Amino acid sequence: MSLNLGHLAEEWGRGFLRDPGQYFAARKLRHCTVCDYRGRFMTGPGRRERRCPNCGSRERDRIIGLHLRRTGLSVAGRRVLHLAPEASFYRQWRGMPGYVAADLARTRTSERRVDITAIDFPDASFDLIICNHVLEHVADDRRGIAELHRVLAPGGTAIVSVPIEPDRQATWTPPPEMPKADIERLCGYGHLRLYGRDFEDLLRGAGFAVAAVVFSPAENDLHRLADEIVHVCRK
Ligand SMILES: [Zn+2]
Repeated sequence: MSLNLGHLAEEWGRGFLRDPGQYFAARKLRHCTVCDYRGRFMTGPGRRERRCPNCGSRERDRIIGLHLRRTGLSVAGRRVLHLAPEASFYRQWRGMPGYVAADLARTRTSERRVDITAIDFPDASFDLIICNHVLEHVADDRRGIAELHRVLAPGGTAIVSVPIEPDRQATWTPPPEMPKADIERLCGYGHLRLYGRDFEDLLRGAGFAVAAVVFSPAENDLHRLADEIVHVCRK
């Protein structure tokens, strides 16, 4: 683990403004699967102990970090498309040959504009795609998944996650006349639907072989993963 003192100071300061009570609460020692930090996590929006103070990772970053660690899957030496990049990973991976950090708009953590429903790359351009908490914001998610399949090389892997309600079997799409504010209240900020366990079928429908990776209660606790699921899609 390398300590990022500048980032730690920033997170601790922000944490004090956001939730001073957290410093007096019982917080467990956690482990960050992105940067290897071991220590106490910080409050993030809506939840205590969400953020790693050393790299700023959230639950959604750490599920990817844990999957990469467990499988030994490395970004180095691969053609990688990272969509809506998490800052914690972007800082580690930027500048690597073959690594493309892309988002719908230009952001601090992306170098290229890419619309997931019309990815501006030829077929089979990437060995690894990371698409984490993106599709719930995309109106035509089927088209987006079809595009992920198209630009992935045969033998490649796409790591896809969306927020899924574990008890929900079928994905719920709001009726077209529902006001945006009501949709956001029900589905989450900027989210267009509530995915259920049938999300896997959507991925399979595009031609992927899919494995849902569910983490154990002990892993959820140690790394603070919020029961998120990673879908590993192979072509
Ligand atoms: Zn970290």
